[in-house]
Amino acid sequence: MSDETTADDVSVIVVGGGPAGLSAALFTEKNGLKTTVFDTDETWMHKAHLFNYLGIGSVGGSEFMATARQQVDDFGVDRRQGEAVTAVSETKDGFAVETEEDRYEADFVVLATGATRDLAEDIGCDFSSEDTVDVGVEMETSVEGVYATGAMVRTEEWQAAIAVGDGAAAALNILSAVQGDHFHDFDVPDDASRIFAGHVAE
Ligand SMILES: Cc1cc2nc3c(=O)[nH]c(=O)nc-3n(C[C@H](O)[C@H](O)[C@H](O)COP(=O)(O)OP(=O)(O)OC[C@H]3O[C@@H](n4cnc5c(N)ncnc54)[C@H](O)[C@@H]3O)c2cc1C
Repeated sequence: MSDETTADDVSVIVVGGGPAGLSAALFTEKNGLKTTVFDTDETWMHKAHLFNYLGIGSVGGSEFMATARQQVDDFGVDRRQGEAVTAVSETKDGFAVETEEDRYEADFVVLATGATRDLAEDIGCDFSSEDTVDVGVEMETSVEGVYATGAMVRTEEWQAAIAVGDGAAAALNILSAVQGDHFHDFDVPDDASRIFAGHVAE
């Protein structure tokens, strides 16, 4: 990216639309980065019922996903449901993402493919001794600009709340990189009417 890059010019591709991927997409699109999500709908959430997601007493996993999908759609994420990513590679300026249908380019890639880690391996991400994708708290892999989130970065500690946190951490790190300073996505009560009136369906 050049020094004159603004958020409007920056694109993010998220591979996987479970809790980790949709969380990353929510934060990046909400804050002005053009975000596309590819998802094949094999999320484990369809098998789950949540009683341990703080702030939600009880919700079916598929119902949780329906709300999450509506939320990212309302903010304008380009969610390509049913389009599988077959390859991710580096280009001169960023990354190319291939599906059976087309080829796409992005400045950042967030991998959120659950316990399936082959795309991370193909693009050359380092793995831990336990065969998970190696990341720190910012969720960036050893390949600059590629993030890994959710079940793919943990051996067994698989929880929806952790996946959502991973996606948020990856997105904030991308937003900080674009802004050139630490990024906060802090809203206050007065923002509610602005956001709900102009941006998001109630
Ligand atoms: C039986 C069961 C019960 C559970 N109960 C709970 C619970 O009570 N509480 C809790 O917190 N957690 C629970 N979990 C765990 C929870 O479901 C996971 O932690 C969570 O779904 C992980 O989120 P993720 O986004 O990392 O991956 P996933 O939810 O698995 O999402 C990954 C997504 O990526 C897509 N994908 C993969 N490869 C590609 C590709 N190449 N191109 C496009 N898309 C791709 C998949 O189709 C999938 O939709 C349960 C899991 C199971 C199996």
